[in-house]
Amino acid sequence: MTSTLAPTGIDTTSPARALVCRACSARYPLAAQHACHECFGPLEVDYDPAVLATVTREQIEAGPRNLWRYAALLPAGQDAATRVTLDPGFTPLVAADRLAAELGITAPLWVKDDSANPTHSFKDRVVSVALTAARALGFSRFACASTGNLANSVAAHAARVGTPSVVFIPSDLEQGKVVTTAVYGGELVAIDGSYDDVNRLCGELVETDEFEDTAFVNVNVRPYYAEGSKTLGYEVAEQLGWRIPDQVVVPMASGELLTKIDKAFSELVEIGLVAAPAGGWKVFGAQSAGCNPIASALHSGDEAIVPVKPTGIAKSLNIGDPAAGLYALEAVRRTGGWMDHADDDEIRAGVRLLARTTGVFAETAGGVTVAVLRKLVESGRLDPTAETVVFNTGEGLKTLDAVAGEVGPTHRIKPSLRAARDAGLLS
Ligand SMILES: *Cc1c(COP(=O)(O)O)cnc(C)c1O
Ligand SMILES: [Zn+2]
Repeated sequence: MTSTLAPTGIDTTSPARALVCRACSARYPLAAQHACHECFGPLEVDYDPAVLATVTREQIEAGPRNLWRYAALLPAGQDAATRVTLDPGFTPLVAADRLAAELGITAPLWVKDDSANPTHSFKDRVVSVALTAARALGFSRFACASTGNLANSVAAHAARVGTPSVVFIPSDLEQGKVVTTAVYGGELVAIDGSYDDVNRLCGELVETDEFEDTAFVNVNVRPYYAEGSKTLGYEVAEQLGWRIPDQVVVPMASGELLTKIDKAFSELVEIGLVAAPAGGWKVFGAQSAGCNPIASALHSGDEAIVPVKPTGIAKSLNIGDPAAGLYALEAVRRTGGWMDHADDDEIRAGVRLLARTTGVFAETAGGVTVAVLRKLVESGRLDPTAETVVFNTGEGLKTLDAVAGEVGPTHRIKPSLRAARDAGLLS
């Protein structure tokens, strides 16, 4: 699991000190390793708390208007010249008053719109951090196993720096995800199988001599990848004027993003950049009904996650065996949040509701999140009188088919005033 080509090349100005096992706390050097040699648990980046504690709001605010303003809280990329990046981040935090009114939410409701990133999903954050670390660790080819958005982002990052890439996807992805990957050049391997099959194959490829030079962003350099998601949490706090919202609703595939938004809030409190809300913050998770192994475990009170075979239109979230599922469960239970799931009709309605009330056109994952937000309000799990942030993680243009059959021109007329009048446009 450790590449022989990958000595610790992480910059000495990085606050990261080690990789630590999330299950047994064993520690390892900052290399390309993702699983614990003792217990096979997932590894996570560990930081020097004394170094993090020196970071100030002023220092962050003086940084670039992208995720690198948080470089002092990330494992790699402190030196701008070393970055492999499209400079994602600092995406809009949209006040969603009309959505709140429709759902009966009386406190401020915000949509963090990460479809505004360069390849139109939050994956640009994780890829920028992972590939910057990968280059520092000596890798010369970039790869991933993807449900769609990761494919776009890895191919685009590789194109920006002129590094070869090889991206693996399930062969049944939406055309809007395939074309937006293939256009960047690079190798694109469509596999007749599910994402979980693709991921398993990548886990085997990464062990071969032929792939020794290759960083799979969500396999051998996964600990660095995961840290990129923290920047969504940092940004929300900064954009709220250095405050943490009472409640967040986060879509889940592997469950990693949810755990890292929670980690980001914890870090900001620990290093004294923000105060925690009086009652703490609550983390809520959203899955689709076609792929809900994490939400199901919560609902049935299980300690283990039972993998599923995913179905349904929210393909970017279709991970049947979620790597961070247990940690997402832990975060939701610890903070007093909840999880729910939405079926395909509810997802389409969620996409349209968000579009109609905020002007944000989300992909199906955003529809999942909005549909689950609605359910959480209706079931009383989410407090409508407490400030809430929901995360839109991807762009509607990539999953046009989801709503294409439901919307279209409201009128079709000849180009004349009479036709306009006949159609009722002048009355
Ligand atoms: C990958 C993805 C997610 C979830 O990411 P995890 O960290 O694996 O849970 C959410 N939304 C979109 C659009 C994605 O592409
Ligand atoms: Zn371990």
